[in-house]
Amino acid sequence: MQKTKKTSLKSYNSFGVNAISTKFTIANSEQKITEFLERISFSSPIILGGGTNILFKNNIDTNIIKIEIKGITITSETSKHIDISVGAGEKWDDLVNWSIQRNYGGLENLSLIPGNVGSAPIQNIGAYGVELKDCFLRCRAVSVESGTIKIFNSNECDFSYRSSIFKKDLKNKYIISNVSFRLSKKNHKINLSYEPLKKHIINKNITEPTIKDISNSVIEIRNSKLPDPKIIGNCGSFFKNPIISLIDFKKLNETQNNVPFFNVSPDKVKVPAAWLIEKCGFKGKKEGNTGTHKAHALIIVNHGKATGKEIFNFAQKIKNAVLRKFNILLEEEVNIIEN
Ligand SMILES: Cc1cc2nc3c(=O)[nH]c(=O)nc-3n(C[C@H](O)[C@H](O)[C@H](O)COP(=O)(O)OP(=O)(O)OC[C@H]3O[C@@H](n4cnc5c(N)ncnc54)[C@H](O)[C@@H]3O)c2cc1C
Repeated sequence: MQKTKKTSLKSYNSFGVNAISTKFTIANSEQKITEFLERISFSSPIILGGGTNILFKNNIDTNIIKIEIKGITITSETSKHIDISVGAGEKWDDLVNWSIQRNYGGLENLSLIPGNVGSAPIQNIGAYGVELKDCFLRCRAVSVESGTIKIFNSNECDFSYRSSIFKKDLKNKYIISNVSFRLSKKNHKINLSYEPLKKHIINKNITEPTIKDISNSVIEIRNSKLPDPKIIGNCGSFFKNPIISLIDFKKLNETQNNVPFFNVSPDKVKVPAAWLIEKCGFKGKKEGNTGTHKAHALIIVNHGKATGKEIFNFAQKIKNAVLRKFNILLEEEVNIIEN
């Protein structure tokens, strides 16, 4: 059922910001998306999934469309793999559980990431050594400008670290309705490239981990580390980990001791944003109704009554401090919605 009405967005965003939307619509099918676009004369709406990576800075007068298309369908199968097609409104972690229960491999390292399937390609979600692109086949999307359907394969999505074409040239131009994945049925590729996950598995004395073991371990690590948005509002990492040149990294090491890093390419490294923020004295800092989490400098939290603007201004303060101290410009991972 499609509805347009004035709505508090508090329960629709994991920051728990009480922004008011004057035009809020839910679509549970591709046809409803097309009808909605026709009704708003193909003007650009705000697209909403689970709201776990979005900050509403103000009340919102622009039309919002929340995608709730459901369904997981096996579209083809061989002895080695299955291809599945998943409605954009399915919860990501429900899909992961669905795959683990049936012993289909590929999504186990991405256990417990909040949000919906349709949003997963937007920032090429990733965790514990795996990214969405590793199992992605294609997605179906409705053009916001014409209502026509386009299928995007992996190349066309132009996936990179926490990014895709949908965050760049095609930002807000397509509403993803469906995502297809290829999952393994046997000889699963167990990915233990992320050192803390490997250690966790070794500490549990597991010598030949199954995808279920990987999923369980990821869940245990995540539960021990990440604040639950149901208890304290947050959107996970607020900023991306900056990727800098080796030359800049060497300069950084001239003034700082033991700068942590991950190799990205022969001439580039990734530096943990949390380390930079912590060095600027922001870890666990509380300011009014907002602040950073006590255990995670990269996670900005809502202590209860923070407005979107308060959270945004606090994030800018962090960004300025990191820029002044390290000459590194942090980029938001969270999508900031102005209006
Ligand atoms: C505690 C916590 C931990 C997290 N951990 C991780 C992690 O490990 N790795 C990671 O990558 N992310 C992580 N995230 C971020 C978040 O879970 C992901 O970015 C997720 O994909 C967001 O999904 P969503 O449905 O909530 O998207 P939303 O917040 O609703 O939207 C995110 C963006 O996608 C757009 N969008 C949403 N749906 C569609 C659609 N159908 N078509 C087109 N555009 C759309 C929106 O306009 C917005 O720009 C974490 C968040 C939290 C709160």
